[in-house]
Amino acid sequence: MTANRIAAAIALCMAVPVVCCAERPPERDTLQDPSEARRSMVNLQLEERGVRDPRVLAAMRKVPRHEFVPDEIREYAYDDRPLPIGFEQTISQPYIVGAMSEALQLDGSERVLEIGTGSGYQAAILAELCSEVFTIEIEPELAARASADLERLGYRNIHVRHGDGYLGWPEEAPFDAIMVTAAPPRVPQALVDQLAVGGRMVIPVGSISQDLLLITRTPEGIERRELMGVRFVPMRHGDESRPDSGTDRQ
Ligand code: SAH
Repeated sequence: MTANRIAAAIALCMAVPVVCCAERPPERDTLQDPSEARRSMVNLQLEERGVRDPRVLAAMRKVPRHEFVPDEIREYAYDDRPLPIGFEQTISQPYIVGAMSEALQLDGSERVLEIGTGSGYQAAILAELCSEVFTIEIEPELAARASADLERLGYRNIHVRHGDGYLGWPEEAPFDAIMVTAAPPRVPQALVDQLAVGGRMVIPVGSISQDLLLITRTPEGIERRELMGVRFVPMRHGDESRPDSGTDRQ
């Protein structure tokens, strides 16, 4: 990426009205002291906006977000915004990662499915909060890069698959929790079917304006609750139509 293209990509991300936030100067000493940048990120961007789960806060203080963004923009890794990761995709704003992780109410015992691996950052946060993460990415190069980064960082409880998230991961279902980080126009039935009874799914639904939904599977059916308005990249349809057409990378 050239400097101009990076600047344009960042400007594009900034134009997306994600979550309203107080303006503050970006941390430019991020790379000198990443753990201090993370403490400040957690305090100002998460705790002050109401994210309370101590396990989520600890995970976000621990996982090195700067390892998941392209080298040229690492200094922005802990800023209060999404960032470009190539292939016209973004790593989500830290607050959104925290709020969605909290919504799943994980206690450490769960098997969790993520749709939209992207950089692998959200998968790493989930891996700190549950027992096993299964994550699906439709863009093969992103799947390969995230898989390599997660392995390099020592994550052994994350399985990355290149494939179409609309199909879920039937061989590993049911899941105690599902997190979808790209927006489909409606909730995919295959994902509801792969949620265990008592399980939670957090998913942005819609096109231009999207609602972040918390879906709980009960013995009687499903309950839906709207959490907030969000802006995610669209969930694309792959060519795959067979459930076994993906490729496991870990
Ligand atoms: N969770 C990511 C950010 C997600 S960006 C992170 O932590 O970095 C959304 C991702 O969803 C993109 O990488 C995009 O390629 C992927 N995606 C879009 N449609 C998909 C689909 N049908 N199945 C799987 N991944 C999909």
